[in-house]
Amino acid sequence: MKIAIVGAGAMGSRFALMLHQSGNQVILIDGWLENVRALQQRGLQANIDGQHTNVKIPAYDFTQLDQLPDYQADLIIAFTKSNQLDKAFSKVRPLISPQTYVLCLLNGIGHEDILEKYVPVERLILGITMWTAGLTGPGQVTLIGSGNVELQNFDAAGKEFTLKVAEVFSQAGLNPQYSTNVKYSIWRKACVNGTLNCLCSILGCNIGALGKTSQTKALLQTIIAEFAAVAAHEGVVLDQTEVYHHIAQTFTADIANHYPSMYQDLIANHRLTEIDFINGAVWRKGQKYGIATPYCALLTELIHAKEELLK
Ligand code: NAD
Repeated sequence: MKIAIVGAGAMGSRFALMLHQSGNQVILIDGWLENVRALQQRGLQANIDGQHTNVKIPAYDFTQLDQLPDYQADLIIAFTKSNQLDKAFSKVRPLISPQTYVLCLLNGIGHEDILEKYVPVERLILGITMWTAGLTGPGQVTLIGSGNVELQNFDAAGKEFTLKVAEVFSQAGLNPQYSTNVKYSIWRKACVNGTLNCLCSILGCNIGALGKTSQTKALLQTIIAEFAAVAAHEGVVLDQTEVYHHIAQTFTADIANHYPSMYQDLIANHRLTEIDFINGAVWRKGQKYGIATPYCALLTELIHAKEELLK
C-alpha cells in the first residue's frame, strides 16, 4: 500500500518503520525541518527494545512536496499533535486524490471536524492506538513494548478499505482490531488523557503520586461525568464507573512512575499541548449542547496559562 505518514514524530516514525519493514511504500512528511534533514541524511534511527536499527524512509518537509508531482497516497496516516493537524493537512492537500483515505490515530476528540475539510467523510477512518513511542532527538526514536490499534471507518462506505488497512497493519505486526464502536474507545481514551494528563501537569507529579492524593477520586469522577454528559450528545454512552476504574488501576500499575505525555510536552519541553482536543473539546462541545463543564473549562484555562508562562 502507498502510505504517507503526516507527522514524523515518535508515533509517526514507529508506524513508518513497521509499515516500511512489512513491504509497504511509506513516506514521511513533517514540518520540523531539523527532523526531516536528520531523516534524509542519517535515516530513521530507532532503538527497539534495546536493539538499534537504522532505516532509510523517504522524508519530505512541507516545502518539498513539489518533489512528488504525481504522488497519490492510498492512505494518509495523521500523526501530528492535535494542534498541528489543521496546518499540516492544509500543506499536504495536494497529495490527497479522490481515492485517498485518511486515518487519524491522534489522541483526543473532534479531529474529524478538521479532517472533513480535506477528505470526504466516506474516506475518513478513525482509530486509537495503545502502541507508544518516544522521540529522543531529530530522526531518533525509542520504541518499547507492544500495542494494538483499533480502527473503524467514519462512514459505512469506507468499510471495505478499512478492512484492507487492518490487513496491512496485521502484516506489519501492529495488532489491529476492526472496531464496531470506535467512537466509544476514542471517548474512553480521552477520559484517561483528560484526567491524568492535565492533573499531573498542573500538580507536577507522576501518575502514582496523583493516585495517592485524597482529592483525586472525586476530581476524576467529576471530570469523567462532564465527558460522559457531552459524549451522550454525540451518541456515546460512557460507563462512568468502568472508566473510573480503568483510570484508577494505573495508580498502582507499571506506569505509576510515568509522567504523562502532556507533562513531558509542557513541563519538560515547554511545547504547546493537546488540551483543546481533550478537556477543551468537552468544554467547547458542552457550550454547543448547553451542558456546563466547569472542571474541563478550568483545566483547559490552567493548562493554557501554564503554556503562556513557559513559552
Ligand atoms: P511528537 O511530538 O513526537 O510528534 C508530533 C509532531 O511534532 C511531529 O510532526 C514532530 O516532528 C513534531 N515535533 C516533535 N518535537 C518537536 C520539536 N522539538 N520541535 C518541532 N516539532 C516537533 O508526537 P507523538 O508522540 O508522535 O504523538 C502524535 C499523536 O499520537 C498525538 O496525538 C499523541 O497524543 C498520540 N499518541 C502518542 C503516543 C506516544 O506514546 N507517543 C501514544 C498514543 C497516541
